[in-house]
Amino acid sequence: MAIELNEVAIIYDDSLSKYDFGKMHPLKPERLKLTFELLRSIGYLEKPNISVFNPKVAKEEELVLFHSESYIETVKKYSDIGSGLLDSGDTPAFKECFESTCIIVGASLKALELVADGKTHHAFNMSGGLHHAFKNRASGFCIFNDPAICIEFLKKEYDMERILYLDIDAHHGDGVMYGFYSDSTVLDIDFHEDGNHLFPGTGFVYELGKDKAKGLKINFPLPPGTGDTQYIRGFRELVPALIDKFKPEIMLMQCGADSHYDDRLTHLNLSTNMYSEVANTIHKLAHKYCNGKLIMFGGGGYNLFNVSRCWTVILNEIIDEKSNIDVPNSWRILYKKIVGEPIPTHLYDEEMPSDEIDDRIIDEVTKNIEYFKSNIL
Ligand SMILES: [Zn+2]
Ligand SMILES: [Zn+2]
Repeated sequence: MAIELNEVAIIYDDSLSKYDFGKMHPLKPERLKLTFELLRSIGYLEKPNISVFNPKVAKEEELVLFHSESYIETVKKYSDIGSGLLDSGDTPAFKECFESTCIIVGASLKALELVADGKTHHAFNMSGGLHHAFKNRASGFCIFNDPAICIEFLKKEYDMERILYLDIDAHHGDGVMYGFYSDSTVLDIDFHEDGNHLFPGTGFVYELGKDKAKGLKINFPLPPGTGDTQYIRGFRELVPALIDKFKPEIMLMQCGADSHYDDRLTHLNLSTNMYSEVANTIHKLAHKYCNGKLIMFGGGGYNLFNVSRCWTVILNEIIDEKSNIDVPNSWRILYKKIVGEPIPTHLYDEEMPSDEIDDRIIDEVTKNIEYFKSNIL
């Protein structure tokens, strides 16, 4: 039977929540359960075009596709001890951090296999998108870089030569970008808050890639306060044209929910409208260029309500379903129990924050668009 255009696999079970840096850490594992339960409460898990798969556990031979053996050994050692720091301060080791990261990477590889083998068009691992991890070190709450491992896996096991990686997390996806900086098989497009204002402090327009990959690393830094209008303008002007030029065989998208205006660690002014627009565009482009092959990862997101709804809004676009605009009461009760805070009643933001009156933001975005138009397109 032919797979449907709006078919999506969700990779999930509770074991993904074992990736837990502790109570005081901003990356909360509860966000995964809350998102999954929100999808259940609006009836998505019963839909014929949505299937849920358990993650597999990544093997060391898969980790070494991107990471060095010595770094993997270091993580294992700290994982056994259950304490210490894996980077300069943001990423503490915890008991079994090795094993729990292997489940997250395994979930992304499961998503990859389902899509690359043609069993489904689209797959989503909400626990993935650990885009800051480097070959030799952890960074920014990321121990192993699951999108980077997926890219290497697609190259090695599926002989893919044109892979799109799109990253809409508020933070620059430095681990992926620098990991493939000289690699012409990867078109990396990354919209993020300007590195002059936010961790990791990288991802500037002039970082275009090296050697044969020059022109294939597109970093679009956004000034703090950038809202939907200017973001979407930059996205529409560049992304479809870049993709048309590159003609990817498969698309990977890191869907960090921390670009939302109500995130606690970042300073952009974006609403659910941006997530809808990006997902809608990428979904159409995935069908146009890649026979639908689209793998989605979660990413950052430090306001638990926003994480759940941004990712639900993305799925709405993928399955072409926009009717569920009210948050079910059963889920609101669960949220209150887990998070202890009252939440809005609607999935979509009612009032879109506007950036149309800020000349500084308009000028910066215009400058970026012009830069890529004259240097790349
Ligand atoms: Zn589709
Ligand atoms: Zn982030």
